[in-house]
Amino acid sequence: MLTTIHKILTQETLSKSDLVTLLSVKSPEATRMILDKAYQVKTETVGRKVYLRGLIELTNICAKNCLYCGIRAANTKVERYTLSTDEVLQAAEFAWKNGFGSLVIQTGEQVSKAFTNTVEDLLVRIHEKTNHELTITLSCGEQDLEVYKRWKNAGADRFLLRIETTNRALYYKIHPQDENHSFEKRIEALKNLQLAGFQAGTGVMIGLPEQTIEDLADDLIFFKTMDIDMIGMGPFIEHADTPLYDKTHLLWPADERV
Ligand code: SF4
Repeated sequence: MLTTIHKILTQETLSKSDLVTLLSVKSPEATRMILDKAYQVKTETVGRKVYLRGLIELTNICAKNCLYCGIRAANTKVERYTLSTDEVLQAAEFAWKNGFGSLVIQTGEQVSKAFTNTVEDLLVRIHEKTNHELTITLSCGEQDLEVYKRWKNAGADRFLLRIETTNRALYYKIHPQDENHSFEKRIEALKNLQLAGFQAGTGVMIGLPEQTIEDLADDLIFFKTMDIDMIGMGPFIEHADTPLYDKTHLLWPADERV
C-alpha cells in the first residue's frame, strides 16, 4: 500500500481513482506520507508564512433555508442582528492597526438593492479608513453578475461561495428543492464571480450523511476544473435546530460517516 501511495504522490496529475485511494488511507504511515507531500507542495507554492484574516460577521439575517444551517430563515430561535457601519469600521481599523493584511465580510444571504448598497458603501469606507492597505474578501452569497461587478469595483478582491457538495443529488438532500436553492444557480454564481474578476473561493462539508469518498474526490476534481483560487473544507457539524439534524443524526451516527 505504501508503495502505491508513494507512486501516486510522485504523479503530476491525479485521477479520481488516485484521489479515492489517498482519501481512503487509514494507516498513520500512509497519512504521514500524504501530509509530508502536502506540506512540501504548500511551502513550494505559497511559502511558510501564515496570513491572518480578520472576520466580520456583518449580519446573520438570511433569506435561505439550507437544511443544515443554524441561521436558516425558518429558525425562529436565532436572535438576528446587523452590525452598524461604525461597528464594522471599528473592526476594520482594529484589523488594519494590528497587522492583519486581509479582512473577510461575511453575511447571511440577502438579495436586495439596499443590501447591495450597504456592502458597496462599506467597501468604499473601509478602504478610505485603512489607507487602502487591506485586502477584502466577501462571503455574501449568490448575487447577479452586476452586483458582483459593483462590489468588485468598490474594492473587494476575493469572494467565498461554498457549494457544500458537488454531488447534485446530495446537494438536494441538504437543501430544499426549490428555485431559491438551485444547484445550477450556485455553479453559475461561481462562474459569475470569476467573470467579475474576483479570486473565487468555494468549498464543501466533509462527513455529510450519505456522502462517500467518491463524492469528496469529485469535489476535488471540481475545484481543479473550475480553476478555484481558494478552498475551504470543513467538517459537517450537526445543529440541533435544523431539519437535517432531525432527519439524520440517529440514522447516520457521526462515526459512521466519511
Ligand atoms: S445561505 Fe448560508 S447562512 Fe443562509 S441558510 Fe444557507 S448556509 Fe445558512
